[in-house]
Amino acid sequence: MAHVERFAPSPTGLLHLGHAFSALTAWDRSQAVGGEFLLRLEDIDSTRSKQEYVDAIFEDLSWLGIAWPRPVMLQSTRMSAYQSALRQLDKLGVTYRCNCTRRDIADALSAPQEGVQIGPDGPVYPGTCKSRYILDEHAAIRLNMEAAIELLGSQPIAFEELGEGPNTETGHIVTSAEQMISGIGDIVLARKDIGTSYHLSVVVDDAAQKVTHITRGQDLFEATPIHRVLQNLLRLAEPRYYHHRLIRDENGKRLAKRDDSRAIRKYRADGASPRDIRKMVGLNHR
Ligand code: GLU
Repeated sequence: MAHVERFAPSPTGLLHLGHAFSALTAWDRSQAVGGEFLLRLEDIDSTRSKQEYVDAIFEDLSWLGIAWPRPVMLQSTRMSAYQSALRQLDKLGVTYRCNCTRRDIADALSAPQEGVQIGPDGPVYPGTCKSRYILDEHAAIRLNMEAAIELLGSQPIAFEELGEGPNTETGHIVTSAEQMISGIGDIVLARKDIGTSYHLSVVVDDAAQKVTHITRGQDLFEATPIHRVLQNLLRLAEPRYYHHRLIRDENGKRLAKRDDSRAIRKYRADGASPRDIRKMVGLNHR
């Protein structure tokens, strides 16, 4: 069976130890079975993506001993594919336009009858625009989760976990239809500023690149049921997932992009070798 892995960073900062761990884990897993490793740049947010970070990603990954086919896929060149997926979802009747601001959402959620649920993208959207007719072409587009789940037969949403989630779950991970609707809700498919979203782009591109195994951090575990819903609606192949542990600093905090003190190039400048980096993140030497 084909085994295609990918590493899909956003070029919005320097890669740090957490990225090194993620990329090396995907790379090692692909190499162990004679599979393929792809690199994709998730640069849909043009205000935050920078060429200097793209160059740094190429350089740091090569230095770590990772190789990939070129040219790499750039999400910024894939807008027509995202538009066509949106049209497909629209035809299925599972989308709606939304022109709520963050403020509007916060206000709606502070109403006494609304309980605030926190989903993978923050507070679960209260559905304000669901029954509105919004003409604004530049409004955001949301997934009508209730309609989507109904269309999929009101079944639980499941995915195959080869690694583990934050609560050490491995195997067949099931999210109930009820949890999808009330605990995740109407996520944004297309932001008004960029016309797409992380969830939509990642699903469309993993399918376009025929990725069979998705290795990424446990911070994205909660997003995976959303991706499964979109894959089901768009009739895309079902990849397997390997969510890996997160690299934390000495205070137990997950490393962030702005944490330049853990940047791979900082360690390089200080004389570390790729082997040292592997050791630091707890990976076996190769
Ligand atoms: N682009 C995402 C990030 O940099 C990763 C996406 C994924 O692996 O699904 O966090």
